[in-house]
Amino acid sequence: MSTRQYHNQRRLVQILSLAVFILIPAFGLFRIDVDTGDFTILNRQVWWSDYFLMLGSTVMLIAAGVMSYSTIGAIWCGWACPQNTVSEWANNLTRRMLGKRADVSVAGEGMTVAADKNKFVNWLVLAVSFLGISLVTGIVPLFYFYPPEQVWALITFTLDPKLSEFMSLLYLVFVVGVFLDIAVIRYFWCDYACLYRLGYRLFRNKDALHIQYDESRSGECAKCNYCATSCIIGIDPRKFTNADTCINCAECVDACTRLHDRKGGELPGLLKYESSQQRPTSMLGRMMALARRFNWVGVIFIVGTALFVWGLHKYQPYDIVAYRAERATAASVSDYRVRISNKLYTPAELTLSVSGLPEGSYQLDADHLSLGPAERASVNLRISRDLPKGLHRVDIRARAADGWEGHFEVTHFTASK
Ligand code: SF4
Ligand code: SF4
Repeated sequence: MSTRQYHNQRRLVQILSLAVFILIPAFGLFRIDVDTGDFTILNRQVWWSDYFLMLGSTVMLIAAGVMSYSTIGAIWCGWACPQNTVSEWANNLTRRMLGKRADVSVAGEGMTVAADKNKFVNWLVLAVSFLGISLVTGIVPLFYFYPPEQVWALITFTLDPKLSEFMSLLYLVFVVGVFLDIAVIRYFWCDYACLYRLGYRLFRNKDALHIQYDESRSGECAKCNYCATSCIIGIDPRKFTNADTCINCAECVDACTRLHDRKGGELPGLLKYESSQQRPTSMLGRMMALARRFNWVGVIFIVGTALFVWGLHKYQPYDIVAYRAERATAASVSDYRVRISNKLYTPAELTLSVSGLPEGSYQLDADHLSLGPAERASVNLRISRDLPKGLHRVDIRARAADGWEGHFEVTHFTASK
């Protein structure tokens, strides 16, 4: 068995997790459209009126979080959370530059720096490294607000100057945020500001994987605290308390295994991953055990998924709405504005038509619209005042080149000829 059994696997998962965090918005799986303030899910602009998609994705997300508390628990933190990854990197670099016991984070007990490393050049290298990584990682959150091509244009200084100002400001905010995070906040965030951690404290149970110490062999620990000194957040895995914030990284497991390997490897280490659940051998047994563990939360997750799928099925890629234009244009009540929205991130061609009014009694400013990705446009509809007195049902219809068809009906009232 490799004495770095978990360490190398964890590094791989951390890298993959960072890649996933970039790819999710880059592929349009989830993003916030800053231009319109809408969510983008699966490359579709999702409005609050897309109830099933909004509700389904929210329910799925919350239920998945709660389910993870009874399965992987804090393994998420130690193996996949980007906040932990950058904090761990910052801690390692700080120790290399300022000494093994160096601590500059706000969560620490005060500034601790090794006397022989307290040199200007060490501080400079540390500051430049933090700044460099902040400049690079500050780009990642931008993907959650802008399409990849716009982020790329910002990086290569080819962005439209109108967009560039706000985007550059946002980038600066992210860079400063990341810099403060890795320079002084680090694990303080996990302990006091992380929602996952808060949920984990509320919902965790013994079924979740956790680090288990073999108390019956505690005699082997005489004069040894290798696991505690290997812990990346400075806790002792032999004496967990409720207040401990173990992130299940398993560095202590590797340390103890390493120690026992050096002694000849007759006995395994005293630390291992453990769950109170017995692990059934058959696949069906495992599925049943998992279902029992998820219980009602699993049912809620399935309901959320069903709502989400139904929302995708019923999703309208375009929207048409008409409203009276007298206020906006100070024109007569015979004027309407017809607004067409393209909710997809691809260009669209649409044609407009009006029915319910006699030929020649109305005028539509345009009967064809070319909309860019996620673009909206409005056209005027003017209705003649010479219509017969009474109510007229006017049907405004839009047809997209991809076959979509939608309409909006207005009830127009004519007081007199
Ligand atoms: S590394 Fe293993 S043997 Fe040493 S103190 Fe920790 S649990 Fe005990
Ligand atoms: S106690 Fe072990 S698993 Fe927990 S954070 Fe420390 S090294 Fe990681």
